[in-house]
Amino acid sequence: MKKSDTEQIRAANRADLITALRVYGPIARVELGRLTQLSPATVTAITAELAEEGVILTRESPEARQGRGRPRVLIDLNPDRGCVLGLKLSINEVRLMLGDLKGHIVAESVVKVKTQSLDENSLNAELVRQADQFIDAHPGYRERLVSLGIAVQGFVDTHQGRVVWSPALNLRQANLTDALAEHFGCPVELANDANCIAYQIRRQPQHADTQNFAVIMIGYGVGGGLIVNGDVYSGHFGAAAEFGHTKYSHEGPQCACGKRGCIEAYIADYALYRDASAVMEVAATDRRHPSEKQMQKLTAKAREGDAYLTGLFTQAGRVLGYGIANLMALMSPERVVVTGPGIRAYDLMEAAVHEGIEEALVPELVGQATVEAWPWSEDMTGQGIIALALRHFR
Ligand SMILES: [Zn+2]
Repeated sequence: MKKSDTEQIRAANRADLITALRVYGPIARVELGRLTQLSPATVTAITAELAEEGVILTRESPEARQGRGRPRVLIDLNPDRGCVLGLKLSINEVRLMLGDLKGHIVAESVVKVKTQSLDENSLNAELVRQADQFIDAHPGYRERLVSLGIAVQGFVDTHQGRVVWSPALNLRQANLTDALAEHFGCPVELANDANCIAYQIRRQPQHADTQNFAVIMIGYGVGGGLIVNGDVYSGHFGAAAEFGHTKYSHEGPQCACGKRGCIEAYIADYALYRDASAVMEVAATDRRHPSEKQMQKLTAKAREGDAYLTGLFTQAGRVLGYGIANLMALMSPERVVVTGPGIRAYDLMEAAVHEGIEEALVPELVGQATVEAWPWSEDMTGQGIIALALRHFR
């Protein structure tokens, strides 16, 4: 074996240990070995190195204090050994977040930025200015900065650091990483919101062993994230996985992306609201963004038994089911997780989702993967981009 191979394996083992500590810490050394499937000798060698660098801290477990047997030593990441800065871009708003080495968000702030009217240079200059101001408000963090992460809705080329298209911007092919990377002298990770959420779900202890799964985000749009062999799969061109813009019908309704018949054009909030407004009086709304309150109202009306609305949600469920069937046929995932603000109406869609899967998929493949609804929280995107940025800490 070449020396570089040994070094690469050691670096990969070290990264695995750090990730496992982030998910499970504080934890005993023997458990860490079991979870990472590394040998006791490897775990001891790497943890000794990490302790020397101040990356991990050790403490005795509470059981030891109660005098039951030998003291058990738990190890954990030292949260203060490094930090990352996350930026979440939405329409005319940027959320700034500081994450510690454990991935916890320790400070955040929301600022108004005219994301829809600035050109590429001005937007980059404004992001640098806001990031500077935010980190200066938290003394001691700039020195420990490992990397930055930017989360944005829409099509993203994660390799090139470019936002190909986003509802938050009026720009196409805008590079948002180079200016920040140069200014802060560290790597900048760019990801779309669905990939942030997929990675965040992957980090939950109950999913940390799941190597291959898909996450579908429904709500203001429809997004997808793939976890392949334990990591976010962004594809050769860095733009995977645009589940929402795969097609259901070639002559279907208009989608926000400009094409027709996309899955999103049946399921997204704007699609449901548009279709509802065609036959009933609904409050006027911002052209593409019905509010959460308006969507709640629509959902409540369907639950009360309005036949047209229940039909709309059933159709959305069936379309989602067809999309999931395609994913299952293509990827053979262990599970498919559905989340996002649109999960508010999942009870109205669920039966049709399963019908759609059964209609679309060869019987032998039905039931192999589980479909699971995951409760939605607005914070998942922010936590996900912090976690993605932390992959640069090695
Ligand atoms: Zn589309």
